[in-house]
Amino acid sequence: MDVDIVKIVVVGAGTMGSGIAQALAEGGYSVGLADLDLRRAEQGMSIIRSRLDRRAAAGRMSVQDKEELISRITPLSGPEDWVDAGLFVEAASERETVKQTVFRQLDAVAPDPAILASNTSAISITRLAAATGRPERFIGMHFMNPAHLMKLVEVIPGLRTAPETVSAVTAVCRRMGKEPVVVADAPGFVANRLLMPVINEAIGALQEGLASREDIDTVAKLGANHPMGPLELADFIGLDICLEILETLHAELGERFLPAPLLRRMVAAGKLGRKSGEGFYEYR
Ligand code: NAD
Repeated sequence: MDVDIVKIVVVGAGTMGSGIAQALAEGGYSVGLADLDLRRAEQGMSIIRSRLDRRAAAGRMSVQDKEELISRITPLSGPEDWVDAGLFVEAASERETVKQTVFRQLDAVAPDPAILASNTSAISITRLAAATGRPERFIGMHFMNPAHLMKLVEVIPGLRTAPETVSAVTAVCRRMGKEPVVVADAPGFVANRLLMPVINEAIGALQEGLASREDIDTVAKLGANHPMGPLELADFIGLDICLEILETLHAELGERFLPAPLLRRMVAAGKLGRKSGEGFYEYR
């Protein structure tokens, strides 16, 4: 059965979930934002609010438009608060066991026609879909960071995803003003298959003392025209997320994706990048 998607729940209100919720609201959807509890969902909401406050203060949006946009997003105590949503987008941790738990719970509460989507960076969509009873209505929606600004969404059908699910999700992307690109269900899809080796090599170069962190980033920016250096970008993504992605690529594609030892040490030390206040750079 086709669903007319009007309401969308985003599960996980962190870096990505808050950006995805904002992008969906900008596309005119009614958005429920859920996390482990209401307090965390409200934290995600305040990140969105302060971004929009800055946009309005800079004159790039009217105060009325800002308030209307904010009113389209509702923090929830859990996804079960909005079971009538047509689409649930999971943006929780990159741990597969966490995602499976979330999807089992969503599968139990969401009505039959609802589509379940994961914003995973690298985990197999087919495998995540198998944790649910609706693999034909399960799909990958891989947003880029920051999700409210970046145009690309990788759309990843699993081996049992129905064509109607692909077209429904592609239409949601377009309504948000995004450019959906359909890619195959393979480790890291295309974006992280290309990006993670660059980040991992930059960390390896830093570890081997080839150059300072700033100089490594400058080489990528001035030498390859990258808008951000790979170490800055790793801090922006989150070093824990980079490590989880590389672990998946390494397990499935072999030695060339072995995470740099320095990355493991940074994560063990709690230096996770911007979100923890320190990574390769300091953000205090
Ligand atoms: P994050 O750590 O900033 O946020 C994760 C949020 O999920 C946290 O608020 C956490 O409390 C919540 N959460 C954890 N377990 C949950 C559960 N069981 N139910 C509900 N909420 C739960 O992480 P992030 O960077 O936003 O990454 C989220 C997902 O998006 C990951 O799969 C990641 O690979 C993917 N992703 C990240 C980036 C990036 O640049 N950070 C880019 C694309 C995709």
